[in-house]
Amino acid sequence: MYTKKQLEQWDDQFVWHPFTPHSVYRAEEPVTIVAGEGNYLIDASGQRLLDGVSSIWCNTFGHRHPKIDDAIKAQLDKIAHATLLGNAQEQSILLAKRLVELAPGNLSKVFFSDNGSTSVEIALKMALQWTQQRSPKTKRLKFMGLTNAYNGDTIGSVSLGGIGLFHSRFKPLLFDVIRAPSPYFYRRPAEQTQAEAEIAFIAEFDRIFLQNADTLCALILEPGMQGAGGMITYPEGFLRHARELTAKHDVLLILDGVAMGMGRSGKMFACEHENVVPDFLCIAKGLTGGYLPVAATITNNRIFDGFLAPPELGKTFFHGHTYTGNALGCAAANATLQIFDDEKVLAFLPKKIAHLKEELLSLNDLPNIGEIRQFGLAVGIELVQDRTTKTPFPAKMRIGMKIARRIRDEGIFLRPLGDIITIMPPLSITFAEITQIVAAIRIGISEVVHKMSE
Ligand code: PMP
Repeated sequence: MYTKKQLEQWDDQFVWHPFTPHSVYRAEEPVTIVAGEGNYLIDASGQRLLDGVSSIWCNTFGHRHPKIDDAIKAQLDKIAHATLLGNAQEQSILLAKRLVELAPGNLSKVFFSDNGSTSVEIALKMALQWTQQRSPKTKRLKFMGLTNAYNGDTIGSVSLGGIGLFHSRFKPLLFDVIRAPSPYFYRRPAEQTQAEAEIAFIAEFDRIFLQNADTLCALILEPGMQGAGGMITYPEGFLRHARELTAKHDVLLILDGVAMGMGRSGKMFACEHENVVPDFLCIAKGLTGGYLPVAATITNNRIFDGFLAPPELGKTFFHGHTYTGNALGCAAANATLQIFDDEKVLAFLPKKIAHLKEELLSLNDLPNIGEIRQFGLAVGIELVQDRTTKTPFPAKMRIGMKIARRIRDEGIFLRPLGDIITIMPPLSITFAEITQIVAAIRIGISEVVHKMSE
């Protein structure tokens, strides 16, 4: 056997953690998780922590959900994995059928992969290949996205992304993307009213889109919220507007629903809030209940048919991962979708979302909150040094991490995005747990910021 201390030593010695500055990693007292139960994580010292960010936005119905556990165990008795390359496998067929039944509009074909980044990478490559095959001399080879966008960490999805801190380092490897400003601009009006800023944001988006429309293959957006870029919401109706514009100008629309899909928004897919049907819908994270890495890029028959040709013409989509459509993962996803049905999850979500909204109002009196942004069960609480000027804290103070550490003493696990405290609970979060999270955030912000100003 080994002790907690031994595990931590091996962790320091052998593991390189993602998105983690190792110079301060141990000093910031990370948790070492050894088990989970419902909405709780259990760390190596036995402490139970409410999983307030659903294990990086993917755990849907809590840990060790009996129905998902059983589905995986039953699948293990049949087969763990079989390839989808030129062949088929039971669980992935059943999952694709279910997803098409759930997906809006004419979305009708499912291409599986392993994670959010690859689901976007696939949409990107499909869009380009389809456009070229439709018209070999096409000038529509460019992609458009927004600043602050985050679509994953592979090179294609990093190209589409627009977060300087994460992405600019890799510039030599990236392709150019036409970029419009993030809606952050409209969320934080300087000398304008909110409505004026909203109009200015859309006008600038339109100007850049129209200037480049003839050369655009596809526009990519994160529906509902820009997630990792800072939990930033859009003006109401923007997504609908973007769909109308792309349809009118023959530009494909890719929606990266990796973070805001699978019920997070209160509907199964975030784009349903504005009755938008994209050409590609990317989903991952919560698809398997947060158990196993399965992602899907869902498209329509118009795109699919563009790849139909005798094999020797080379119009096949040459992309596929070893674990594409993994049987255990698809079994977990099928069980997850079954829980949505059995427990009428979507019917209950609006009340939870309203309760969260209500609770968040109670934080408004805290002087260091710049803005609270919510979309469904996703929240970003932006901390600022000065509320009137919206001046951020110096990055080296690591305010977000310090607050999250203090909140942990209240029995809640959160991982911030810089100085944005993020709440992304499992959909199975209870009303009482929502209240508890917001109360702990209040304590965390008050104590840490107070200490700073001493
Ligand atoms: N797109 C969005 C909107 C995301 O939030 C993320 C992950 N946070 C990704 C893509 C990438 O997903 P993955 O980490 O599974 O590759």
